[in-house]
Amino acid sequence: MFKSLYGKLVAILLVLILALGIFFIWLSLFTTESYFREVNQRLNHDLADHLASEWELLRGGEVNTDHLKEVFHTLMIANPSIECYLLDSEGNIIAYDAPDEKIKRESVSLEPINDFLDGEKSTAIVGDDPRDVNRKKVFSVSPIEVDGQREGYLYVILGGEDYEGVADLIGDSYTMSLSVWVALGSVAVALLVGVIAFSMLTSRLRKLTDAVNAFKRSDFSNIDPLRLSESEERGDEIDQLADVFQGMAGRIINHIEELKRIDSERREMVGSVSHDLRAPLTTLQGHLETMLVKEQQLDAEERHNFLTASIAGCRRLNRLVESLFELAKLDSYSFTPQLEDFSLDELTHDVAQKYDLAAKDKEITLTVTGCEEPCLVKADIGLIERVLDNLISNAIKYTDSGGRVALSLNENDGRVQVAVEDTGVGIPAEDLSRIFERFYRSPGSISAEGSGLGLAIARRIVELHDGEINVSSKPGQGSTFEFYLPKV
Ligand code: ADP
Repeated sequence: MFKSLYGKLVAILLVLILALGIFFIWLSLFTTESYFREVNQRLNHDLADHLASEWELLRGGEVNTDHLKEVFHTLMIANPSIECYLLDSEGNIIAYDAPDEKIKRESVSLEPINDFLDGEKSTAIVGDDPRDVNRKKVFSVSPIEVDGQREGYLYVILGGEDYEGVADLIGDSYTMSLSVWVALGSVAVALLVGVIAFSMLTSRLRKLTDAVNAFKRSDFSNIDPLRLSESEERGDEIDQLADVFQGMAGRIINHIEELKRIDSERREMVGSVSHDLRAPLTTLQGHLETMLVKEQQLDAEERHNFLTASIAGCRRLNRLVESLFELAKLDSYSFTPQLEDFSLDELTHDVAQKYDLAAKDKEITLTVTGCEEPCLVKADIGLIERVLDNLISNAIKYTDSGGRVALSLNENDGRVQVAVEDTGVGIPAEDLSRIFERFYRSPGSISAEGSGLGLAIARRIVELHDGEINVSSKPGQGSTFEFYLPKV
């Protein structure tokens, strides 16, 4: 029970309320007793004086027994709880009205008596109780003087042995016992209200804990929508904690899915890389072995052909390894593009110029339509050149001779759009969503040389610039690749 937060809170509340309840009951009993003593002493302050002035109790050191009996008798009638003692000037008890075995002291201390007579103390003054060696009681006292000489004291204990303190009063007094019961009732009600309030507060925490455990049991793959309180007003710390947890769980699920996707992509990539490396390597190895085995039988032209094919294979391998290296670099967390302001218009013209010859060789018309104003972008010029390289070389590669490749730049919505349009073979609709994946090549274009990495590199570069790249295509009619970069 005390392991749960609710149990701990209830235990703390219980201890606190009990401690406070006991303290306040003790405090009120103590103050009531003090007040009662004080009032009792004040009301009866002059009682001993009145009695002593009425009757002459001592003469020449001798007790006037008749007068003393009168005093005892008067007090007995007026208030039986008051006890009266005659003391000598040293505080020794010399006369009393009680059985001898009841008197436990031979003398009482004169110090509280003197304090009383000085009248300086404002609180109740307690003196020795002749009937109990350990008890003190409020009293009234009057000095007895004969011819200016102090011969003794009339010592009157107020309350007497019938009244032993407030504890007795509580038992006897309806008001006192009622107030004690009211205090105990209030403590019980406060405890009950606290227990209910804690239960309501911690019930939402319990729901949250259940949700966290369910999330853990689902292997961090599923989180149900959390609704802790019925009311629309949400906003205390527990609701905020639930919202943060919900958001965090969502992100964890997304990250795990992303990691799974990346992992499966990597596995596919390793398979593709091994395949793409193995094919040219096997060819290369075959050519070299043939040259070695048939060294003497090969004429100069055959040897030249084998060497040319081997070099082409090496170049292909080199391009593939370079592309892989480039992708790995773009993927690394530490990589950041070197941004600078430049004119995308100029760069596009420059890159297009590089492909003039290749286009002419295939009898393809390559045109560039620039921006009306200099299209300034903030980007990594080397990386954007690579994107243009990939798109233009693909357009030329997948367009038959006599076709057309058109580059155009446009500005809109604070972005610069670059479009590379060709009249080539086009891409089947089912491949459109996959051609940006690593190593994916449309089955219809496998005969053309390529690695399937060019578009993946282009997309990664555009993403690093917070831009986007799209494709639209009609098989047999051509394709258009567009990418956008934010304007300066
Ligand atoms: P590849 O080295 O195969 O060209 P890319 O990543 O550049 O690799 O392109 C992936 C695939 O997208 C290509 O194999 C091809 O099927 C298709 N593709 C890319 N550009 C074009 C284009 N301009 N016209 C038709 N198909 C294209």
